[in-house]
Amino acid sequence: MDARDDATTLTAPDSGAHWSQRYSAAVMDTFGSPQRVLVRGEGPYVWDADGNRYLDLLAGIAVNALGHAHPTLTAAISAQLGTLGHVSNFFATPTQVALAERLLALAEAPAGSRVFFANSGTEANEAVVKMARRTGRRRVLALEGSFHGRTMGALALTHKPAYREPFEPLPGGVEFLPFGDTDALEAAFAQDGEDVAALVLEPVQGEAGVRALPPGYLALARRLTAESGALLALDEVQSGMGRTGAWLAHQHPRLGGGIRPDVVTLAKGLGGGFPIGAVVAYGEHAATLLGRGQHGTTFGGNPVAAAAGLATIGVIERDGLLAHVRALGDQWRADLTALGHPLVREVRGEGLLIAVELTAPVAAEAASRALEEGIIVNPCAPSVLRLAPPLILTAEQAGQFTAFLSRLPHDLGTEA
Ligand SMILES: *Cc1c(COP(=O)(O)O)cnc(C)c1O
Repeated sequence: MDARDDATTLTAPDSGAHWSQRYSAAVMDTFGSPQRVLVRGEGPYVWDADGNRYLDLLAGIAVNALGHAHPTLTAAISAQLGTLGHVSNFFATPTQVALAERLLALAEAPAGSRVFFANSGTEANEAVVKMARRTGRRRVLALEGSFHGRTMGALALTHKPAYREPFEPLPGGVEFLPFGDTDALEAAFAQDGEDVAALVLEPVQGEAGVRALPPGYLALARRLTAESGALLALDEVQSGMGRTGAWLAHQHPRLGGGIRPDVVTLAKGLGGGFPIGAVVAYGEHAATLLGRGQHGTTFGGNPVAAAAGLATIGVIERDGLLAHVRALGDQWRADLTALGHPLVREVRGEGLLIAVELTAPVAAEAASRALEEGIIVNPCAPSVLRLAPPLILTAEQAGQFTAFLSRLPHDLGTEA
């Protein structure tokens, strides 16, 4: 009997423990042990292999915008797959064209703008790295706390040393500026500003604990990049597609105040759970930086992924979810703050991308208690809980987490 047989015969077939053991024996251990094994979802809920139900306030990390098994999304994907599931980029499909047009419209991109389709966030950012190279300039500016993905180019722009250092050398020329520091930004352009290829920013840093750029920062970034001829690239992989209550976070009056970037990357929420990424290149940059033969992908622009994107956008629009996200987000953050819980230092965020910052590094413990009580939240930093639920969440469902937080022991993590 080998080790796998030994482990799996001790647990009931189809139980979570059984699947967890088989997971460990078969799936590469890059993510650590899975918290639960999930078998089904509906709306904002998922069920594990042991029949327990959870309110999903993470939504696959800001992905399942319409919740789970949304009938419109499911029908759109099935219909496209049953009609034409994949062609290569030697061919076009109406679905792909329609999604590109929708994205240009919701991005308010000027004439001449174009979309490149990819399959994930990191791939979308990879295209930006290549666009930056094509400027012929050597410097790329990113921010401390940034997260742009795990492939080599996007990783070079990702600040966390633990992610980057094991894989060096990475594509060079990247400089990390202190988060939100306008003096540092001006200084970075004051010298050799004409050698800056791109400034890459997340309007709201998600992985770093839901940190929005301070008011005025994006406007300054726009002015400095325009003056020096550098690209202003916004990574809206997490903050985009309605997450903050605007289609794109930089369009939100409290975030970007309507600046126009040169490039925006999208992924996570775009396909409502179906893998897809996209790059929107604004104006002249679309034509000049990546021309024929200079970039490519087998799956990017796949019609099933495009159908998922169109359906997700369609439901957000049809059901008025942008206004819902703004109203629910404002009310929820106010309710969470009003608890006055001594463990809560700050509640911040925009729309349904929310952080509850705790006064002690007990986020992992709080999240595991929440899970025991049937609520999925994400401890994205030692003292930060991230909430990124489906955009269809109701006020009553949001209230379940508020109630959970109100019951959280004041001495969590220090009790005997
Ligand atoms: C998740 C994320 C990425 C990477 O997306 P993947 O689909 O995991 O490659 C890039 N940028 C931001 C801001 C993200 O949140």
